Amino acid sequence: MASTRFAPSPTGYLHLGHVVSAIWTWGVARLSGSRVLLRIEDHDRTRCRPEYEAALLEDLEWLGFQPDVESGTGSRGGRKLVRQSDWSGLYESHLRELAARQLAYVCDCSRRTIAEAAGGDAFNEETPYPGTCRERALSPGPGRGWRVIMGPGEERFTDLRLGPQVQRPAEQCGDVLVQDRLGQWTYQFAVTVDDMEQGIGLVIRGEDLLGSTGRQIRLARLLGRATPPRFLHHPLLRKPDGSKLSKSAGDTGVRELRAAGRTPEQVIGLAAHAAGLQLKPAPVPAPEVAALVREQWRGM
Ligand SMILES: [Zn+2]
Repeated sequence: MASTRFAPSPTGYLHLGHVVSAIWTWGVARLSGSRVLLRIEDHDRTRCRPEYEAALLEDLEWLGFQPDVESGTGSRGGRKLVRQSDWSGLYESHLRELAARQLAYVCDCSRRTIAEAAGGDAFNEETPYPGTCRERALSPGPGRGWRVIMGPGEERFTDLRLGPQVQRPAEQCGDVLVQDRLGQWTYQFAVTVDDMEQGIGLVIRGEDLLGSTGRQIRLARLLGRATPPRFLHHPLLRKPDGSKLSKSAGDTGVRELRAAGRTPEQVIGLAAHAAGLQLKPAPVPAPEVAALVREQWRGM
């Protein structure tokens, strides 16, 4: 049985944007006969809090979205959820292997020096890393991170909703940061290792992440994954003014809606309506969400 995953970060409470993601994840999983594994993405230790994780699990259960249990007999088998912070040794060993194969190097660049070297203005997440440290042979140490060499060429993949895509990781982002200067594992590296280790064959996530899919596929290949996962990027929930919904928006929090007397079915129906998955905010029980996404899913 194929596996997909629901992977929230415990950096805030569950909101309607998460509910949309859950509708897509459980919906497509049911349509494709896949298992849904639950992963807590707490790689960023400065922003995650245990109370958010507890609240998130409780809200998910209240909504009726039941994760499946990890299969297998390995160290991850039989678990109801996987937490990234429990697996730093695993990320470490994958990084060591990449470094031994000359595919990773130490980098001490700050956001400011990267922006300057790239000749751009302020640094943003899409500023390509210009390769400054690739030939410097720096030793690892405090204040230094690690990057993986992306190499030339394109990555082609077929998104299960958006169709064929072509991306060029080396031009788009340059060598990918896998461990930052504080010693924290980056999102790109942690999820790519997790997806490989958990045998995730189908990744369902918001379309704001579409631009980073090629680099994740490249990273997966470099890590030795012969068949990278399939991807489906779903539309994000947007406010009436078109802006992306933030986790701080009080009127869309699952906790607030619960406190106001809404039922789980009503909250799911509301999210589906706001994401354009149904014309009216009619209540939908969690076991019936497959019907909401059936027409937009292109099949495996
Ligand atoms: Zn550097």
